[in-house]
Amino acid sequence: MVQKGPRPLVLCGPSGSGKSTLLKRLLKEFPDRFGFSVSHTTRGPRPGEKDGVHYHFTNKDDMTAAVEKGEFLETATFSGNMYGTSKRAVEAVRRSGKICVLDIEIEGVKQVKRTDLDPLLVFVMPPSIEELERRLRARNTEQEDALKKRLDTACREIEFGREPGNFHIIILNDNLDKAYSELREFIAQNLEDKEQGSSDTTDK
Ligand code: ADP
Ligand code: 5GP
Repeated sequence: MVQKGPRPLVLCGPSGSGKSTLLKRLLKEFPDRFGFSVSHTTRGPRPGEKDGVHYHFTNKDDMTAAVEKGEFLETATFSGNMYGTSKRAVEAVRRSGKICVLDIEIEGVKQVKRTDLDPLLVFVMPPSIEELERRLRARNTEQEDALKKRLDTACREIEFGREPGNFHIIILNDNLDKAYSELREFIAQNLEDKEQGSSDTTDK
């Protein structure tokens, strides 16, 4: 069981839409208020990524065994790799008294909506597929085939993001400062002014 606490904040959006950039800024500005839910993944670390900080890097056998033991709140396969949020990751943030922030893709979002986590759901929208591709290429973290897979998936994700009822807010990340201000404003209105109670307006 995951303990009750403040509503978690979920950031979702195509790879390259700017989730990590926005999260990094949020966690830097409010280190005592927000804590990142460190996911597990079977993909390899990128340069600069640290085990236990950005992800818990694992392998397919270990992750499958842990999933079978019921250790995960949600899991998904994305671009050929497994990703998942462990119950322990969310509990660790909650124990610290901070608001738990998750960076997960759409299949994970569907699963967390079925739990009692009652998260606030933010979709980060890229200005266009062309700009998404430019940003992903400029980030230079993926091989060509992995990049293509991510772009293919992006179209489906954008469709899901746009569907009414799937997210509480869609933040267009055309300009980073503007997108970050919108995220802060959304948080101020929905997390910081509110007591525990739920006022869910998304579809389950
Ligand atoms: P995600 O975590 O969603 O995969 P990132 O946060 O890694 O995406 O962003 C992808 C790339 O786009 C990064 O290199 C980042 O610096 C850049 N980026 C993010 N937001 C913007 C923006 N508004 N304008 C231009 N580049 C951006
Ligand atoms: P990346 O490999 O670029 O770090 O992440 C790829 C995708 O996996 C992103 O859309 C990211 O949101 C998603 N992701 C990261 N961790 C998790 C997780 O624990 N669960 C799910 N479902 N998706 C995740």
